[in-house]
Amino acid sequence: MEVTRQDGKHSVAVRDIWKARQRIAPMITRTPLIKSSFFSELANASVYLKFETLQPTGAFKVRGAANKILSLTPEQQQCGVTTFSTGNHGMAVAYIANQLGIKAVICISNRVPQVKVAAIRQFGAQIEVTGASQDDAEKYCRHLEKTHGLTVIQPFDDDEIIAGQGTVGLELIEDLPNIDTAIVPLSGGGLLSGVGLALKANDPSIKVIGVSMERSAVMYESLSKGKPVMLEEEDTLADSLLGGIGLDNRYTFEMVQSYMDEAVLVSEGTIAKAMAMMLDKHRIAAEGAAVAGVAALLENKVPTRHENIALIISGNNVDLSVLMDVTKAYLQS
Ligand SMILES: *Cc1c(COP(=O)(O)O)cnc(C)c1O
Repeated sequence: MEVTRQDGKHSVAVRDIWKARQRIAPMITRTPLIKSSFFSELANASVYLKFETLQPTGAFKVRGAANKILSLTPEQQQCGVTTFSTGNHGMAVAYIANQLGIKAVICISNRVPQVKVAAIRQFGAQIEVTGASQDDAEKYCRHLEKTHGLTVIQPFDDDEIIAGQGTVGLELIEDLPNIDTAIVPLSGGGLLSGVGLALKANDPSIKVIGVSMERSAVMYESLSKGKPVMLEEEDTLADSLLGGIGLDNRYTFEMVQSYMDEAVLVSEGTIAKAMAMMLDKHRIAAEGAAVAGVAALLENKVPTRHENIALIISGNNVDLSVLMDVTKAYLQS
């Protein structure tokens, strides 16, 4: 789908991304961008991979979480922070708060599997189990905000989170000033909003392509309807891309409209293949969401004539058993 780009002023400025960069530098990894000869040949282009899998929690989300938590007032930091995410965002909040000696409460429902609970606990957060759904967990999170003054750390629809994720874009332009196209995994759009702003501010002709899975692509559906919509969640290998964008979305819906040139959807089969290929060709373990861009290349959905293309390999939070299954299937194909 081609996106009709809307120009508009947003409350996140490029300067906010530079501020974020300085603020979070001691807490995050400045990740490498490497040229992939295998994917370059396959796509008939110069393909570069940015490995956010090397962040301390295995995903880029530490950037936004660090920027948000470091921007809070001393009083807010004293009270602590809370979130209802059990994925990479929850881990990032737990990790950053722990590093800074700030209390973090992660609210989860009793449906969240033990492996995920263990991963969050490992980063030093307090876990509150309430109710049977994500909604119940979110409600409890809001309750803690009202009664105990904890600050809710949003996963994407927040100016400081967006600025933090945007530091990925600054690093891209620094390492590859000749970049033509950035391919970005897209869910709530915090990453794409920040990266898009950073890149387009340098040169509006740099193309930004967002990739989601075919199943429950909420941002994609919202863009085509012209307003935020809700979708039923289906199982997908790109589980980190699941979730709504909020019917009362404040930042990312409009920013994605402003900075994304094209939205692409990829199939489960190609995501599986892309995960296995990343392991095979680069010996890098990446989760389904993180190889969405690779899948888009494999499905020939990105025009690539000799261009310099950068893919953000966004995270590595995947069960070993899943990685083994996709690898086995790949070897047998
Ligand atoms: C959160 C996440 C994304 C999507 O980021 P948004 O800001 O929600 O669009 C992509 N990949 C991974 C690994 C993530 O954890």
